[in-house]
Amino acid sequence: MRFKTLTPSNSSEALEILKNNQGAMIPVAGGTNILVDLHRAKIKPEALVDLSRLNEWKEISLHQEVLEIGSLVTHADLTNAPCLKGPYAALSAAAGMVGGPQIRNRGTLAGNLQSASPAADTVTPLMALGAVLSLVSVKGEREVEADEFFTGPGKTVKQRDELISKVRIKANPAARSVFYKIGKRNAMAISLINLAAV
Ligand SMILES: Cc1cc2nc3c(=O)[nH]c(=O)nc-3n(C[C@H](O)[C@H](O)[C@H](O)COP(=O)(O)OP(=O)(O)OC[C@H]3O[C@@H](n4cnc5c(N)ncnc54)[C@H](O)[C@@H]3O)c2cc1C
Repeated sequence: MRFKTLTPSNSSEALEILKNNQGAMIPVAGGTNILVDLHRAKIKPEALVDLSRLNEWKEISLHQEVLEIGSLVTHADLTNAPCLKGPYAALSAAAGMVGGPQIRNRGTLAGNLQSASPAADTVTPLMALGAVLSLVSVKGEREVEADEFFTGPGKTVKQRDELISKVRIKANPAARSVFYKIGKRNAMAISLINLAAV
């Protein structure tokens, strides 16, 4: 299979590339799902848009009012972030149970969300925490609540010219949260069921 790889150096460039996308251009973050889809010929892109240089979407910051997570943070980043304790522990715990170390080092929050797998581990805590996703395109930004983002397995409200830029969670320092995952084995397991409570 032949396809181009485009490597924008910032989010404006990436959105400009995707401006008239009819589906032939596919954004790639960590590539952990995309590679599998390419191997299975489930997708046949004309171009992959590599988001790995969009450093502005790789930060996690906790202000008084809001926790803001860049969409391109990896599961390893989420697991190790000192500010993801107490109220946000469910998200950190979920990220820590995704795949194995290789997957956690490459796989991103945006990729986990946009894959819209019913077994995705970060989705449950984000819904429980009332997270809001920012979707951006050259036309601007819109916000979608995590529980309104998914329309079915593998399907979301994101349009082809849009990217997920960040996730926001209203800070609630007094809250506590937990995550449980049940799979067929203790490690490298796809969730059969998972639960997050705040
Ligand atoms: C061996 C293995 C084990 C796994 N185990 C688990 C597990 O235990 N739990 C779990 O939840 N998942 C698991 N996964 C699935 C996967 O690794 C995760 O969902 C990961 O978070 C995907 O992120 P990524 O950055 O690699 O996505 P990619 O493969 O880069 O992209 C996935 C999708 O997201 C889109 N996308 C990427 N970035 C953006 C963006 N910024 N805006 C809009 N769309 C975007 C892509 O176009 C694509 O449609 C596993 C995968 C493998 C191969």
